[in-house]
Amino acid sequence: MKLQIGVDDTDSIKGGCTTYIAALLVDRFSQLGIQFTDYPNIIRLNPNIPFKTRGNAAVALRVQIPDRTYELVRETVLRTVEENCRWGDERTDPAVVLLRGNPTGSVKRLSREALTDIVPAHRAIRTVKNCNASAVCYGSAIGLVGALSAVGQTLNGDYTLELIAYRKPQNRGKLRRVNRASVVRMDRMTTPGTFNNYDSDNRRVLITPHGPDPVLLGVRGETPHAVARAFRLIHIREPVERWVIFRTNHGTDAHFPNTLLKQRIELNRPVIRSGVVLERPKRIVGGHVFFKLKHKNSIVQCAAFEPTGKFKEVVADLVPGDEVMVFGGVKRNDRGHPPTVNLEKLVIRRLSDDIAIENPKCSRCGKHMKSVGEGQGFRCVRCKLGSSHQPKLVLRKPRVIRPGVYLPDKRAQRHLTKPLSRYGFEKRRWSKEPPKGTWHKP
Ligand SMILES: [Zn+2]
Repeated sequence: MKLQIGVDDTDSIKGGCTTYIAALLVDRFSQLGIQFTDYPNIIRLNPNIPFKTRGNAAVALRVQIPDRTYELVRETVLRTVEENCRWGDERTDPAVVLLRGNPTGSVKRLSREALTDIVPAHRAIRTVKNCNASAVCYGSAIGLVGALSAVGQTLNGDYTLELIAYRKPQNRGKLRRVNRASVVRMDRMTTPGTFNNYDSDNRRVLITPHGPDPVLLGVRGETPHAVARAFRLIHIREPVERWVIFRTNHGTDAHFPNTLLKQRIELNRPVIRSGVVLERPKRIVGGHVFFKLKHKNSIVQCAAFEPTGKFKEVVADLVPGDEVMVFGGVKRNDRGHPPTVNLEKLVIRRLSDDIAIENPKCSRCGKHMKSVGEGQGFRCVRCKLGSSHQPKLVLRKPRVIRPGVYLPDKRAQRHLTKPLSRYGFEKRRWSKEPPKGTWHKP
């Protein structure tokens, strides 16, 4: 029988890692001689959900097993989760879903919604009951949404790969001993087959997390071969416990579906909205840039935060009348203001003229004159020379930015954000072949 296993929410802010459980299961299943029909999947869901742990990721394993081994597989999954969960941490509500056969329409629908919306736990419970699945929740049922969504996201369209290497228990919590120069070199040698592993703008290595979790590093790329080669190019000065190649929706913009998503502004959901820049962007303390976007009769505040780097400078260069499309997450604004779209992507479609209107200059000294009053002309403060006929000056400033797609600096991009290097290279479908070659190592 075909069996799809979803696991979610074994993480907590203190460490532990859902993908590590998947990696252990890959090893245990291999020892049982179980056949994988896909790489294990990491599925990121709506990144704007406030109660997520770190990345709002769930995992799915897809296997083909003889009917008689179902109980053994189920026991193996539950035991592995139970042995490796961060029990006792608040907000850790592990859940496991086992679904026989292919995901049904209702499971797929629920998992699509989980990318752009907030799916209540009771919907997941009902869906599990109505399809050929069984589920185990160890805390509240909130983890069930992720586990079922992971099962339902079969990544048949665009996808990417990530090779994740894990640390030996005795090293967890210590500094990661990964040679920086080798990462820079790897990035240079393997781009665009790999992506978002090094942020050259900020000279920052992106493959290593910083917490106490078991992940040593994760390398992102387009093919299993590309991430495996990249991994071999990295010099690691600590023992690697195991590594696994995952197939994932990282870097695919999966949370921004093609169907012109809701232009609706709803808290904690992604939004795509086209419109016209209403006024000059404002820079506030901390370096964040805000502007107002007008779409038909509604106006929405958009924000580009400081860590987005050059991106926020592009946003700061917008002028009233620019036609743009914003992609982002709708978040509540702390200071009681209306919700803000936190920008993840900006498409500049048409630039308007950057026009500044100034008072005419004095014919004697060249300084700008002051207005005497509405319709009464101008006067030079220095020469006292007056003029009633000179028109205001209309100045057209050259534009620095150009139409196009703009993203935050790599270090500030979300897991799901599609990097610029992938535009035009999106995959259309998955071959549905089982993993080939060496794709994991205990
Ligand atoms: Zn003058």
